[in-house]
Amino acid sequence: MTTQYEGVIGLEVHAELLTKSKMFCGCAVVDSTTAAPNTYVCPICLGMPGMLPVINRAAVDYAIMVGLALNCEIAGYNVFARKSYFYPDLPKGYQISQYELPLARNGWLMIDLPDGTQKRIGIRRAHLEEDTGKLVHLGNSSLVDFNRSGVPLLEIVTEPDIRSDIEAEAYARKLRAILVYLGVNTGDMSKGVLRMEPNISARPVGSDEFRTRVEVKNLNSIRSLQRASAYEIARHGKVYDQGGTIQQATFGWDELRQQTVLQRVKESASDYRYFPEPDLLPLHITEDYVEQVRERLPELPDAKRDRFLALGLSRYDASVLVADRTVADWYEKVLAAGADAKKAANWLLNEVFARMNKAGYDPEEIGSIKVQPADIAALIKLVDAGTINNNAAKTVLDNIYENGGAPAEWVQNLGLEQTRDTGAVEAVIDRVLTDNPKDVDRFCAGEEKVVRYLMGLVMKEGKGKFPADLVMQVLNEKLAAKCGQ
Ligand code: ADP
Ligand code: MG
Ligand code: ZN
Repeated sequence: MTTQYEGVIGLEVHAELLTKSKMFCGCAVVDSTTAAPNTYVCPICLGMPGMLPVINRAAVDYAIMVGLALNCEIAGYNVFARKSYFYPDLPKGYQISQYELPLARNGWLMIDLPDGTQKRIGIRRAHLEEDTGKLVHLGNSSLVDFNRSGVPLLEIVTEPDIRSDIEAEAYARKLRAILVYLGVNTGDMSKGVLRMEPNISARPVGSDEFRTRVEVKNLNSIRSLQRASAYEIARHGKVYDQGGTIQQATFGWDELRQQTVLQRVKESASDYRYFPEPDLLPLHITEDYVEQVRERLPELPDAKRDRFLALGLSRYDASVLVADRTVADWYEKVLAAGADAKKAANWLLNEVFARMNKAGYDPEEIGSIKVQPADIAALIKLVDAGTINNNAAKTVLDNIYENGGAPAEWVQNLGLEQTRDTGAVEAVIDRVLTDNPKDVDRFCAGEEKVVRYLMGLVMKEGKGKFPADLVMQVLNEKLAAKCGQ
């Protein structure tokens, strides 16, 4: 009998906060992948001795927002702590963080699983700290860029409630969406502003023990988070099957070979010699203040999804639309331009996304295409008014997608307007029926679905200009007459 294993995963996520200035000094927070190295630094974030940090209120506000969005308790009494370790990107020799008294704790997040169910993941804590500088390795030398040193960082830690790579992926997607909705992070993992580190162990299905875990660092996409988690769960299972044990350690992820690589045997909290930061007073957050911040929270993905459901959208469509804030905003602009909710969702999710996908765009890049939300609303109106039919509308969309421009103009340029010219419709139908006598016989013998085939032929001959209802009506009349003969 082979043992089946399940994963036990707790995620530690580091999110840089999109404040204007850094956590403890006035230097600007910039895109550290493009700014010239060491141009946004000062004695405080360079770790000069004797410099005094000052807490950035905006960073505290953002941390409270995230804490509230994750259903956490917000601590009234906060203490910053020194986490001591040496690394060339950490000039002070310690990082200012929070240890025993995090700003937020005991929360939860509902994740959406691929089978349509939801699952609640406990949030253990979220605390404020500062980011380190960045090492750049060039040939045989290593350079250090301190632009990132002191950027506000929020560490968000889950309970070990995640049971598979798929759940880890769902958690990551939901958390990223919330951070982006809140406007506190761009969600761009490839730039390192959002970093996810899973702690992974495995156990036989049905057991409730917590076995030795490993931590995987430096994952730069949700895809690698999912793959690294799956890889480790499988590896643990194999080790246990062979009677081996897992050693607690830190791994990296080799994107090329799609496997984890041992980095170091795990350090423990005592190695960091945490103690209260003597340069900062405790931070008091009143309940009133928390309520003020709560009032500023934007609508979050779940609330938006429920509102879309109430407009008549399917659960699946609503979830896809809210998964990314850019897409949700775009969709709402289509509605604001007067479109019906369901039709707008169909056009966006089926037609627009298909064209983007073919051109190699991800949904969140919808802002950079030539089609505008108002175009979709206009297109739907043209179809509803009977000016063009659905196929013609798709042709119009093709042209707007390639070149931009207004739907009505394309209808004119391409001559796609429908004609309610009964004479022209009758002429084409007569020709089609004469050319396809066997199909007419089959229809008269009771094969009703032949109508659809004949209808298709007529519509094609009409080059999209015949209104479907008119064709259907005339075709039925003519067929009935033929069968009666
Ligand atoms: P540390 O501070 O050393 O990183 P924590 O106890 O704070 O350790 O836990 C870090 C993460 O590891 C949390 O997300 C937690 O849920 C997770 N975790 C704890 N025990 C296990 C386990 N046995 N298997 C997988 N993850 C675990
Ligand atoms: Mg840790
Ligand atoms: Zn500075």
